[in-house]
Amino acid sequence: MENSNENIKFGICPECKIREDDSSEKKLYQCSYCKGWFCEKHVEPKLVITWSAIERTRNPFLKEKLYEEWRKEGHHPCSVWTMQYFESFEIKEKEEREKFLKALDKIEEINLYDKSSEVPKRKISFKDIAIILMLILLIYFIAVRNITISIFILLFLALIIVIFR
Ligand SMILES: [Zn+2]
Ligand SMILES: [Zn+2]
Repeated sequence: MENSNENIKFGICPECKIREDDSSEKKLYQCSYCKGWFCEKHVEPKLVITWSAIERTRNPFLKEKLYEEWRKEGHHPCSVWTMQYFESFEIKEKEEREKFLKALDKIEEINLYDKSSEVPKRKISFKDIAIILMLILLIYFIAVRNITISIFILLFLALIIVIFR
């Protein structure tokens, strides 16, 4: 609260009068929101809100804030500040929601990426190369009618398939 000279005058603080039945003249300061004049103790604004409205508040974060406001010592219930408070709260809420949704989108993107990378890339393994080589040799030795080596290669082929299953 800036207390420049234009913002100070002497008079009765309405909050002191209502709450403490104190009608003495005091140094008063102007609330920059509602433009009302209050003593040093009451010049800071607080929310205009009823206990039942707090009880009905479903947003737990806002509810906690409202309880805090309720417990505030001094201050004056300021309708202008209350309106601004709820407007800024709504904006914050909206921003939080948008942030939350953006974060969700990102998680989904990551999930999609993970799924695409899950698709196994077909790699030619040592087993495949060995089998192909053996088949070529087998065909060659069958062609040249070398049955012994052909049977040997066939056995070797079976062995590779069993070992590198
Ligand atoms: Zn006062
Ligand atoms: Zn005010």
